[in-house]
Amino acid sequence: MEPTHEVLNQPPPLEGDSLYESDAALREGMAREGGAGFEAELAAAGRDLGSAESFALGRQANRFTPELRTHDRFGHRIDEVDYHPAWHAVMRLAMSHRIHNLPWCDAQPGAQVARAALLSMLAQVEAGACCPLTMTFAAWPVLRNDADLARTWGPRLRGTEYEPRLLPAAEKPAVLIGMAMTEKQGGSDVRANTTRAEPAGTHAGRDAFALTGHKWFCSAPMSDAFLMLAQQEPGRGLSCFFVPRLRPDGTRNAIHLQRLKDKLGNRSNASSELELHGAFGLLLGEAGRGVRTILEMVQHTRLDCVAGSAGLVRQAVAQALHHAEHRSTFGRRLAEQPLMQNVLADLALESEAATALMLRLARAFEAPESSAERAFARIATAAAKYWVCKRAPQAIAEAMECLGGGGYVEESILPRLYREAPVNAIWEGSGNVICLDVLRAIVREPECAPALLDEIRLAKGADRRLDAWTERLAAELADPADAELRARRTVERIALALEASLLVRGAPGFVADAFCAARLGDPDGVAGLQFGALPRGVECKKVVERAGVGRS
Ligand SMILES: Cc1cc2nc3c(=O)[nH]c(=O)nc-3n(C[C@H](O)[C@H](O)[C@H](O)COP(=O)(O)OP(=O)(O)OC[C@H]3O[C@@H](n4cnc5c(N)ncnc54)[C@H](O)[C@@H]3O)c2cc1C
Repeated sequence: MEPTHEVLNQPPPLEGDSLYESDAALREGMAREGGAGFEAELAAAGRDLGSAESFALGRQANRFTPELRTHDRFGHRIDEVDYHPAWHAVMRLAMSHRIHNLPWCDAQPGAQVARAALLSMLAQVEAGACCPLTMTFAAWPVLRNDADLARTWGPRLRGTEYEPRLLPAAEKPAVLIGMAMTEKQGGSDVRANTTRAEPAGTHAGRDAFALTGHKWFCSAPMSDAFLMLAQQEPGRGLSCFFVPRLRPDGTRNAIHLQRLKDKLGNRSNASSELELHGAFGLLLGEAGRGVRTILEMVQHTRLDCVAGSAGLVRQAVAQALHHAEHRSTFGRRLAEQPLMQNVLADLALESEAATALMLRLARAFEAPESSAERAFARIATAAAKYWVCKRAPQAIAEAMECLGGGGYVEESILPRLYREAPVNAIWEGSGNVICLDVLRAIVREPECAPALLDEIRLAKGADRRLDAWTERLAAELADPADAELRARRTVERIALALEASLLVRGAPGFVADAFCAARLGDPDGVAGLQFGALPRGVECKKVVERAGVGRS
């Protein structure tokens, strides 16, 4: 057949670049926050994850979604999830780069910072796999407090070789851990949990329990074990339990998968509903202090919500920048058109700010012995989780529009990034719940607000807009009137102050200046409500060039 036309004015695919080396904000932030020792690992992972093969795996894992097999052909319960081979390939690659455990294997300073960067790069390619890897990463800070479990499961948690088969943990090179808190009647308010844990003899010298009830969301049901909350009978209150997928005698634990969720995004990841029919479990932490015990895990998963969202935004913005470099309209490349430069610059600012905040936050997880860093992490994790995750869907939608109609088409990756984005705001504490948590930190832990303000004030004197913003914020934090009603506004202001302070201290002057002008109020006193409304005087072209991925 004769060709009817030549394909013109279409960009090449953005694949094959190192996700690390092509991202100046990530590289510089890594060095700033003490992750320089992991440069080689990051570069290698960035190349692996940025390859065309990895993007293809990401596409397949989300197109050919997991299927639940409750029974085998003979009618035995098996409760297995069948994943496409692409899912297993992504998991294998991610675990080989220690995305699930780097700081627990490598005591070198910067390991938390490097791991956050690794997770954010994985989220750019296949975000669904982040869930089981995050849970596994976040479970160790709880499990290491239990001498028995730390001894038996610790070495497997430090393994790097993915083994999807259901085998006793001792026979696996590495294991995965999931979390199941949410029930039908309540997710934020887990005190409403109705699952019961009853005494069931002893195992290896410690009390064993039988858990009966249900969980409404359990996102990594093929994990080797789970941390679950249940009401401890008789009358001890909500406790945390370690529930392995195999009982100590090697038979399947009574965790019955009911169905998989049909979700907006995150489709590669098999979020399930399950019932517990007297499942074997061991008490973790103190009886009746289940929320307190699992909070340590939740704090780490929140860090990953920030890293995951920062990654989603970065990939969307990279795609937009790349497209604009290669596409012309009305006789000029999009990247040269002033209004498009304004949109791209604004998106680039959002991405760089999210990256800087993610890396600084990760550094705070490095030093749990420092009380100032602990206080900072306590409040900044919640504030960053709220803001970075909330901004992601908006930024990704705008990046999608930069690609025009092609951005709305699956092959462009933008639809998948867009569908993925809201979940980070919903799970691990939905928006309002997170904002109320920030208030709780301010009121109940008096060292938190000063630690936060000290960090923001490290930039004092460098930008008058930031200085004024910080003083207003300090007054707002000290004002208890209508605090709950104002909580979103307060948290927004905290997050913007933190981002601005980090950029003022660490980013090139034109980036910091643009961010302060755009987010802290321009000279006219009106901040733009949509992306692309940066005020006059902002050096859009330079901001765009810095964020760009080159014209390869
Ligand atoms: C894809 C996916 C995977 C998940 N995986 C897991 C998992 O593996 N394990 C697990 O345990 N859970 C999981 N969850 C559940 C998730 O953590 C919960 O959905 C979330 O915590 C919210 O709980 P909920 O759905 O019961 O909503 P609710 O608690 O009913 O909250 C509904 C809304 O009300 C708001 N709200 C609640 N309290 C207040 C208040 N006091 N003031 C103002 N507003 C308030 C919340 O912010 C939210 O917006 C998953 C969820 C999704 C979507």
